[in-house]
Amino acid sequence: MRKFNFCAGPAALPEPVLRQAQEELLDWQGLGCSVMEVSHRSGEFTTVAEQAEQDLRDLLGIPDNYKVMFLQGGATAQFSAVPWNLFGAGSKQADYIHTGQWADKAINEARRYGEVNIVASSEDRNFSYAPAADSWEESADTAYFHYTPNETIGGVEFPYIPDVKSPLIADMSSTILSQPIPVEKFGFIYAGAQKNIGPSGIAVGIVRDDLLDRALPDIPRSLSWKIAAEAQSMDNTPPTFAWYLSGLVFKWLKAQGGVSAMAELSLKKSGLLYDFLDRSAFFSSPVSTESRSRMNVPFVLADDKLDKQFLQESEEAGLLNLKGHRSVGGMRASLYNAVSLEAVEALVAFMADFERRHG
Ligand SMILES: *Cc1c(COP(=O)(O)O)cnc(C)c1O
Repeated sequence: MRKFNFCAGPAALPEPVLRQAQEELLDWQGLGCSVMEVSHRSGEFTTVAEQAEQDLRDLLGIPDNYKVMFLQGGATAQFSAVPWNLFGAGSKQADYIHTGQWADKAINEARRYGEVNIVASSEDRNFSYAPAADSWEESADTAYFHYTPNETIGGVEFPYIPDVKSPLIADMSSTILSQPIPVEKFGFIYAGAQKNIGPSGIAVGIVRDDLLDRALPDIPRSLSWKIAAEAQSMDNTPPTFAWYLSGLVFKWLKAQGGVSAMAELSLKKSGLLYDFLDRSAFFSSPVSTESRSRMNVPFVLADDKLDKQFLQESEEAGLLNLKGHRSVGGMRASLYNAVSLEAVEALVAFMADFERRHG
């Protein structure tokens, strides 16, 4: 029996997608073998790859002057790829907003290749908010401006898109496809798949094509956006199964009504949980109201001695993976697209009951 899964990543996948993959596993498209056992250059797989790109373009309304790449090495490889691809055209300075652990990792990689200006940071209040738009300024000579629209660990989501002159770079690993975005405001968007797209092993990169000629001359081949874009993300063997499964998720998303339907649903799901947390005398949210994430909802119990019991009982109730990140403790419920409203209703009902018994 499938349970309600609130894992932060690799996260829940839509059940119909898993069922289709199961049905097709042994004999895909009548070929007598699985999708994992054919050449990535075969006609059949090329169709999968092209269709996945087209569906992603349709879902996000990606303009023609943007290349879509299916990349390896996760979002983490892009922490390095961003400076490698953008520090070769003059300025070796970049602006970063520091909002938590993922921003920090991106910053530390960029520092190895150039100078990082931390234009804003929420470290003063334990990364519990997104710095307000009027609290920072872009630097004068910056190659690009990087931020993390949704900090997966802290559960902090920006309520705005930074308005900057330099190319805007966004790590959308835990928020992509959860709402419509104006792609034309960004220079490069990247996301590891295992939160809101598909299985781990693949990442999506969306790059404005005028940024493909700014790489440092000795960029490693496997990090080059230009090479990836020119080779349709097949400069080397891509993770074909992850690509195929991501494509099934894109089709599923379209059938659900696309990203605007996901935006509406995400507000409903997260609203239900935040409303409960705000009413509760026992559970609370550590995140500043205006920066609360729709995707990752951290919460704490009034008495952390009950954490273990909460986790044990919730698991017995069929609610999986509610433990917070090891670095911050407490609990976290991740409410990505594949997590249903029914799952959140079950979680809130369980929490209310736990509070009655232990609060
Ligand atoms: C999970 C996550 C990452 C790391 O992704 P990998 O694919 O494991 O490299 C980076 N940034 C954010 C915001 C994430 O949520």
